[in-house]
Amino acid sequence: MLPHTTNTYWHEFSEISRATPSLNYFERLWAAWYAFMGNDVLATGIMSFMMHELVYFGRSLPWMIIDQMPAMNKYKIQGQKVPSKKEQWDCAKLVLLSHFTVELPQIWFFHPMAQYFGLTTTVPFPSILTMAYQIAIFFVLEDTWHYWSHRALHWGPLYKNIHKIHHQYSAPFGLAAEYASPIEVMILGLGTVSGPILWCAITKDLHILTMYIWIVLRLFQAIDAHSGYEFPWSLHHFLPFWAGADHHDTHHEKFIGNYSSSFRWWDYVLDTESGAEAQKRRRERKLAKAQKAQ
Ligand SMILES: [Zn+2]
Ligand SMILES: [Zn+2]
Repeated sequence: MLPHTTNTYWHEFSEISRATPSLNYFERLWAAWYAFMGNDVLATGIMSFMMHELVYFGRSLPWMIIDQMPAMNKYKIQGQKVPSKKEQWDCAKLVLLSHFTVELPQIWFFHPMAQYFGLTTTVPFPSILTMAYQIAIFFVLEDTWHYWSHRALHWGPLYKNIHKIHHQYSAPFGLAAEYASPIEVMILGLGTVSGPILWCAITKDLHILTMYIWIVLRLFQAIDAHSGYEFPWSLHHFLPFWAGADHHDTHHEKFIGNYSSSFRWWDYVLDTESGAEAQKRRRERKLAKAQKAQ
């Protein structure tokens, strides 16, 4: 066999399958990719960037189709505001620009940085339970970071110079999740990436697959929160502390309150909830206080 024909992805795959038959199919595909690339940073960089693009646009697409279906309009939170094709195209252009200029380096530097702190890329994979509890921790950390930095971004000068772009759409749609100034993408993206790095530095226990699944779930959360749709089967009906579109859509409509990303607890505890219901509760509280003082 000629030497260059042996250096294929599937050759690596069959070599690994022969040497370690105990690995499952997915683990063998994974190990073959890293062996084939021969450069972990490059292998992770390409895989994670492609995955990010695929999930971002792949998850936004069903929402774009739903927007074209009149029967679904009854589930739209701000029913009268369906995004036009031009709006969606303008949005996609800016999103792509920040993906290539801001997110690409962030994704690229994640691997060497996390590897420095002890990230593993090897097989076998961690157990589902390990991945689940670590991802749950990342969700809580990100939500906290998001609450405080998003709230800060609503402070006058920061709003005017950075965050205003994200608020261009008062009725959001899936694709608009990452429609923002590159500076904002960097600030908020830090919440997604620094939690796992911190975790890795302290515990020395993080597999990059856990990171991938976390990114996918976080993308789903962000895109769905911007979808503009509220269904009787939306997650927050079953998990009352889950934010979802119901929570974030109001933020876009009212411009103040509801600053967190995944959960409702920060806005609840710090009394920054937005919307008519929160307003009513605030009014009632004030009234009760005034009556007590009399
Ligand atoms: Zn905002
Ligand atoms: Zn938003």
